[in-house]
Amino acid sequence: MNKARASMEHLYRVFTAPEGRESKLAQIEQHLSANLADFLSRHVVATATSLEDIEQHFDDFTVPEDPQFVSDHAEHLLEKLVANSVNTYSPQFIGHMTSALPYFHLPLAKLLVGLNQNLVKIETSKAFTPLERQVLGMMHQLVYGHNESFYRAHLHSANYSLGAFCSGGTIANISALWVARNQALPPDGSFKGVSKSGLHAALRHYGYQDMVVITSKRGHYSLSKAADVLGLGRQNLVTLECPEQILDPQLALVEGQRLQQQGIKVLAIVGIAGTTETGHVDPLDQLADVAGQLGCHFHVDAAWGGATLFSNQHRHLLKGIERADSVTLDAHKQMYVPMGAGMVLFKDANASNAVRHHAEYILREGSKDLGASTLEGSRNGMAMMLYASIHIFGRQGYQLLIDESINKARHFANLIKHHDDFELITEPTLCLLTYRLCPAAVQRRLQDDPENAVQLNMLLDNLTVAVQKRQREAGKSFVSRTRLATRRYDGQTITVFRVVLANPLTTSTHLQDILNEQLEIAQQTRTWLKLS
Ligand SMILES: *Cc1c(COP(=O)(O)O)cnc(C)c1O
Repeated sequence: MNKARASMEHLYRVFTAPEGRESKLAQIEQHLSANLADFLSRHVVATATSLEDIEQHFDDFTVPEDPQFVSDHAEHLLEKLVANSVNTYSPQFIGHMTSALPYFHLPLAKLLVGLNQNLVKIETSKAFTPLERQVLGMMHQLVYGHNESFYRAHLHSANYSLGAFCSGGTIANISALWVARNQALPPDGSFKGVSKSGLHAALRHYGYQDMVVITSKRGHYSLSKAADVLGLGRQNLVTLECPEQILDPQLALVEGQRLQQQGIKVLAIVGIAGTTETGHVDPLDQLADVAGQLGCHFHVDAAWGGATLFSNQHRHLLKGIERADSVTLDAHKQMYVPMGAGMVLFKDANASNAVRHHAEYILREGSKDLGASTLEGSRNGMAMMLYASIHIFGRQGYQLLIDESINKARHFANLIKHHDDFELITEPTLCLLTYRLCPAAVQRRLQDDPENAVQLNMLLDNLTVAVQKRQREAGKSFVSRTRLATRRYDGQTITVFRVVLANPLTTSTHLQDILNEQLEIAQQTRTWLKLS
């Protein structure tokens, strides 16, 4: 390998010189652009390598002394990194919410890096700031459907914002509850508000014993992080049991009132539109009523399910979302945008002023700098990816994708139901479902003598874990697993396979193959022998 020399000349070339067509990086680039699927299938190869083995490629903790030529480094990346990556584009990779992307994001990503705009302030993002505001407006209109004069008045106003772009659902949830917290504990007379004086002083001023957020057991763990960073504390995220997989409005109301009687302020109720584990949608309309009765903020975490609003056939599932004070969306999930594209939206364009910050050199009063009311500082122009997607797919294109995913999930649920050795655990509402292997004989025993259910379910848990691991290690296909309390088994928590059918390239044959593979793996286990 040629050794590069640390010199200004070398650095200058690194910053400016276009790579020759024959250089390694240029070859990679051409291959990626010409045929991504082929590139991935050739270079992402070592799927069965253990994590421990891969860690050995990355165990040198000293900064390399000498520079490297770009081409040499590209070689290094291919071998150490790319080869051992996960092929999330694979149609058999149906375990998580990360899937194949439309090809145009690849050249657009280059454009994004090429322009390297910083959305924190207008001075580094002219054009990108109005674009981002427009995208937020489009998503706001999709969720809330306010009238034209509302959008004319607020879309580009320096004094209002319809929401904020951010890196993902986590930051969006934190941002939503941050706004809610500051609105719930505002300045009052000589008291300067929670934002200035802190939570302790604010609770004392308002005479609250404590502050909580209510959601269900299926609430995403980012809500617990939010409770932590906002000073509420993780144990003040109240997660209610949900054996039906959705938050029971009556239960939320009773719990909220019980807490209020103890002088505890209910900051917010969080409804979920598309739970991460099973894809269920909480009864948003009724939860909006409950939030109204408790006089608290209503937040909807629609990171996964929000895109369902594109579908005329299915958008009714999210009925009531338009009553939420704030909504979280992730474009990097069912809008097929690369990762790093989350959004929080506020029904009231004035809401985000509760977190507005100013600084002298940027974010001056009256400026249109987005950074004044976003949690994050420097931020890239990911909004462009969503902007492009929205135009290239159109609402109708997204509708097709959403409808197709839900149909596929229903189809897969049918395959499972009609297979003697599988048991469907949760029906798909959106494109997620959970199931497990359960030999026909065991299914009969579970029905005939429920006293044995606890014991049998524990054996089945072992089976699910073993099969999921081996299937993952074999590297041909991937489903994930989780643990759920289910009504069917008297609230017993069981281990299940979890699938997300969002990859448009996944076919019925792939799904059948995945079941066949799972059955084959299962039949080689000792647990299977014990069970049958
Ligand atoms: C994915 C997801 C999140 C977290 O979003 P990130 O983009 O991973 O930060 C939050 N809530 C729900 C329901 C999600 O599906």
